[in-house]
Amino acid sequence: MNYRKEFIVEPGKKVHLDKIDPSYTDKHESHETALPKIQEHLARMDKLQYLLYADGDQSLLVVLQALDAAGKDGVVRHLFSGINPQGISVFSFKQPSKAEAAHDFLWRTHQCAPAKGEIVIFNRSHYEDVLVVRVHKLAEKAVWSKRYDLINDFEKMLTSNGTRILKFLLHISPEEQLARFKQRLDDPTKNWKITDADYTERELWPEYIDAYEDALELTSTPHAPWYIIPANHKWFRDLAISEIIADTLDEMGLKLPPTHVNMEEIFIKYHAAEQKQADEKNG
Ligand code: ATP
Ligand code: MG
Repeated sequence: MNYRKEFIVEPGKKVHLDKIDPSYTDKHESHETALPKIQEHLARMDKLQYLLYADGDQSLLVVLQALDAAGKDGVVRHLFSGINPQGISVFSFKQPSKAEAAHDFLWRTHQCAPAKGEIVIFNRSHYEDVLVVRVHKLAEKAVWSKRYDLINDFEKMLTSNGTRILKFLLHISPEEQLARFKQRLDDPTKNWKITDADYTERELWPEYIDAYEDALELTSTPHAPWYIIPANHKWFRDLAISEIIADTLDEMGLKLPPTHVNMEEIFIKYHAAEQKQADEKNG
């Protein structure tokens, strides 16, 4: 199946998250059956990242958004671990610092946008400014409601500078979230991850869903599409996202740059000469 087609949010189309099954796994039955495919996608991503860097003309921005415990960290860990760390950066956006809050809402993310040849992952992003800010009324409606257009313009500007943008909502059910919180309570190595806020934010689930549905509808554009990824099964989430990233990189027409030297000349001038010297030395 082509997951880019299947999970894309069509620009301008109303989104109903309750109609999308977070436990969907397509035709795959288990992690075991999906694993070879995931590995194939990861190998493609690694190869294509090398080309992206060598080509040096474009970049990739991956935006991860989700409610707590939906697996943003897991995606970063599983899907980007096989890629050369020199070509990749991850930025996590928490509550704005004093300096960040004193600037426009796009200031902090713009500084982290990828340079040519790079892949950047946003673990949360400028979308928090139309999500948590809206749900918690941290800004007036008159302020946050203007941000959808501002985000679209910002992303258009990045795109026109050679950045491909992929935005993923990791879609889990409230039951799955509760089960994952419970695991964090049960497993001493995960205790540190759980906070009161996780449970209190959960009470605002319907408000978050409304805010997400509007954001998805208003900011899924041809240049920066949103994908809604069924994420109750971690392995299916990884399968779908890795396929979408690899297919997108594939489509970017990445090429090795032309060589700037005469290869034959270089070979004769340096390599052959050194080889001759070595041969003479060794008799
Ligand atoms: P974890 O998986 O470790 O819980 P996390 O991304 O949830 O990762 P936290 O430190 O738990 O990290 O939460 C960061 C918090 O910062 C989130 O509740 C998020 O909504 C909030 N946040 C991010 N951006 C903004 C913003 N612009 N304004 C207000 N709050 C924000
Ligand atoms: Mg959290």
